[in-house]
Amino acid sequence: MDHQYSLIVIGAGPGGYVAAIKAAKLGIRTAIVEERKVGGTCLNRGCIPAKAMLHAAALYREMKEGEKFGIFASDVRFDYEKIVGYKEETTDKLVQGVEQLLRANGVEVLEGKGTLLPGKKVQVEAGEQKEVYCADNVILATGSKPLTIPIPGIELPGVLTSDDLFELREAPESLAIIGGGVIGVEFATAFASLGCKVAILEAMPALVPNMDKEISRNLKLILKKRGVDIHTAASVQKIEESEGGYVCRYIEKETEKAVESQYVLCAVGRCPNTGGLFAEGLKLQMERGRVTVNEHFESSEPGVYAIGDLIPGPQLAHMASAQAMAVAERLAGREPSVALNIVPGCVYTDPEIASVGMTESEAKEAGIPVSVGKFIMSSNGRSLISKEERGFIKIIARESDQVVLGAQMMCARATDMIGELVTAVANELTVPCMLKGMRAHPTYNEGVREAFEELEGGAIHIVPRRR
Ligand code: NAD
Repeated sequence: MDHQYSLIVIGAGPGGYVAAIKAAKLGIRTAIVEERKVGGTCLNRGCIPAKAMLHAAALYREMKEGEKFGIFASDVRFDYEKIVGYKEETTDKLVQGVEQLLRANGVEVLEGKGTLLPGKKVQVEAGEQKEVYCADNVILATGSKPLTIPIPGIELPGVLTSDDLFELREAPESLAIIGGGVIGVEFATAFASLGCKVAILEAMPALVPNMDKEISRNLKLILKKRGVDIHTAASVQKIEESEGGYVCRYIEKETEKAVESQYVLCAVGRCPNTGGLFAEGLKLQMERGRVTVNEHFESSEPGVYAIGDLIPGPQLAHMASAQAMAVAERLAGREPSVALNIVPGCVYTDPEIASVGMTESEAKEAGIPVSVGKFIMSSNGRSLISKEERGFIKIIARESDQVVLGAQMMCARATDMIGELVTAVANELTVPCMLKGMRAHPTYNEGVREAFEELEGGAIHIVPRRR
């Protein structure tokens, strides 16, 4: 086998496989190294399996609530093994799709553990075999793994990470979730819908603390209505075994409290996968365990790039893929096609949450005078038809020139609808520009138009305040 490539990518997640395919499409001779299944966390242990679980759980809840649409179903039940089977079938299909795309684009897949050696060489170790390959450039895209907290009891067998939770073969009867961030609230949504007794223990004063405050507040209300026991500003001290499973002992408002559950999920963030990635003596510049890169994603080692969860910044699959495109394009002598500073954030709760750009309070903090157009989705026909929970769309525009600076949504299809707002923010489009496009009726998307209309003298379906 020829051991010389123009580009070697280590890690075949949404960062690595996109970089490899894009580079190959641009005429770069590329190999990719992967020690597990291609697709990385996103396809195998993250976004895709989580959304499959959420989909099945939502369907179960909808079927049980069919009466509100005049649909009566008796004996609605689920078989958790079958839900897990459906989840695995879905991820397998996508993994096979990525394998096929790599092959079809002429990317060589090198199976094994990749280690970066000095001089842009990569060692691939598979069982007893070790091979060394050379490249003009290397992209490190090894992703991340779940983080745990150093408290007594964290090593107990029923204290799980998101990876372990996906492996369960029966639905938990009760689950205490440490961390009310994105993973915490998505799993709480899925398992609460399946009838599991869920508690969330979040250290910060709000759920999804990085999101708009109104979103955090509404999410708390909705999850509570579904029976989720939520404790914010709660600091977990230790976990102990008990008769029914485990007891999480935590401090909330200076009072010691406890919650008992069959399993505990630790969802307090993720840390980069750097174990065994660098040969002994090879030291790349790092910052808090993440590889430091310049504006072109090049590390302190010339010709060695790093992207995705391995570097500082948001740990999101689409962020990794966008960075991958940018590096591949640059290596092929092109300008990056994606604006890497405009990053949508989506949470697949029910209703969904999506945001991009600045929130109103961030604009205020930055001293930018803004106007806010807000539309409450209970006046949207499509939302009424499907009897959606309380939802809203908020758009932030700069007062001086009406350029769209950001948007936050909490409503059905928010994660799809945020796309047009990402385009608006990335291209500095103005409110009149966004109002030019007609929205079809009846759609959730009409809510976006109405939020823009609010910024331009008043939405049709909002009752004006008395003059
Ligand atoms: P996160 O950073 O979103 O949330 C972790 C939460 O845990 C935070 O709210 C934090 O305040 C809390 N926390 C930290 N230490 C704690 C403690 N000792 N006790 C109680 N709470 C504590 O991290 P995550 O939810 O684990 O997700 C990991 C990464 O994966 C994130 O970067 C996230 O964006 C990404 N992810 C994204 C999606 C999506 O885009 N839909 C889905 C899942 C995960």
